[in-house]
Amino acid sequence: MTLDELIQRVEAARLRRSEHLIVQIVAVTKYTNDPEVLKRLYNDGQRAFGENRVQDMEGKVKALSDLPIEWHFIGNLQKNKINKLLKLNPFMIQSINSYELAEAINKRADKPVRCLIEINSSGEPTKHGMEPEIAVDTYLKIKENLPNINLQGVMTIGAHTDDEKAIRESFRKTYKIFEELKPYGAKICSMGMSGDFEIAIEEGSNMIRVGSALINSYM
Ligand SMILES: *Cc1c(COP(=O)(O)O)cnc(C)c1O
Repeated sequence: MTLDELIQRVEAARLRRSEHLIVQIVAVTKYTNDPEVLKRLYNDGQRAFGENRVQDMEGKVKALSDLPIEWHFIGNLQKNKINKLLKLNPFMIQSINSYELAEAINKRADKPVRCLIEINSSGEPTKHGMEPEIAVDTYLKIKENLPNINLQGVMTIGAHTDDEKAIRESFRKTYKIFEELKPYGAKICSMGMSGDFEIAIEEGSNMIRVGSALINSYM
């Protein structure tokens, strides 16, 4: 689908939730290494791009350095890649999945970096992210102790299943944590991908990360 088509579906979904809900779109571009694809999305108006590998992101950041793009890192971050990622000056790191990772970034960063904590809301063992039970405490501990981690909210990947109820439940669980964290400055609830962004928005998401459903129209 094109960006316009995506925006129309997002618009309909957000109105089902609330006319006050504003939803940001992050275009996930990990499926291509061709900067021209990203340029076409940019020319359609897209400004926020998501990548899950530091190496791939580096190539695209360099190729498109003349454009005012917001780069979101959304993948599992290995500690030995932190310096390389920070050099790329990412707009946001969405995938803080442990206190230890936050500590490691805090130590290496020379200025505050916007971050989200990633929550494993589906309980699937293959998924990264912290357990929902420790998410609030971990968020507060990071906020208290790590000045270079500028926490902005939460991120999750919905349950990997066709069972809409299970998907909805994983988003609902994440939204509840988001609400608990709002008094501590949480503003972003990043959930919803190609297959489930409408459900995520109905459950309160205000940032979706869409890749495969979008990218084919631009390849
Ligand atoms: C790949 C990826 C996405 C986008 O997934 P699609 O199903 O292709 O839209 C979103 N979030 C994360 C963390 C991803 O790794």
